[in-house]
Amino acid sequence: MTLLSDILTYNKTFVANKEYEAYTATKVPAKKAVLVTCMDTRLQDLSTKALGFNNGDLKVVKNAGAMITHPYGSTMRSILVGIYALGAEEVIIMGHKDCGMGNIDVDEVMRKMASRGIDARVFELLQYSGIEVANFLKGFEDVYENVRHNIQMIYDHPLFDGNVPVHGLVIDPHTGELDLIHDGYAHLSEQ
Ligand SMILES: [Zn+2]
Repeated sequence: MTLLSDILTYNKTFVANKEYEAYTATKVPAKKAVLVTCMDTRLQDLSTKALGFNNGDLKVVKNAGAMITHPYGSTMRSILVGIYALGAEEVIIMGHKDCGMGNIDVDEVMRKMASRGIDARVFELLQYSGIEVANFLKGFEDVYENVRHNIQMIYDHPLFDGNVPVHGLVIDPHTGELDLIHDGYAHLSEQ
């Protein structure tokens, strides 16, 4: 048995038993918010349950490190689409303690790529095309700083509606406890 065959077997029963009924929701997030957080396994459910959210409440965007790496990349696009096309009225950026992107060893990742057959010339070719692989893979040193940096990128984005509150949180992946890094309502009232 493979993971894929397990998935497909389980799915037949899931659908036949109408287990999907417990997850009925619409495309519009009931709590009218977009949550950007990390793909960390410990946060798979914890990232919403510890905040009091259920299926259908949010647009959830997950990536390695809850990072907005580029103002015109897919995470920023998801935030903008969430706001302008899918009814989100608030944005929550939530990093977490003990994040894999907080101490990623880029040299080690590149050595593993090489050991799996990625030719060293590929790194050079990419460099000629303006892509520094080490930069592409790099994470952050401080999760709090990373959350603040993400929020500033959103505030500075020319396509972002400055009336939308953006909140910053850091979650403990063991207990779910939150640290408030940035209160989007307070920020708006200071404008
Ligand atoms: Zn993480």
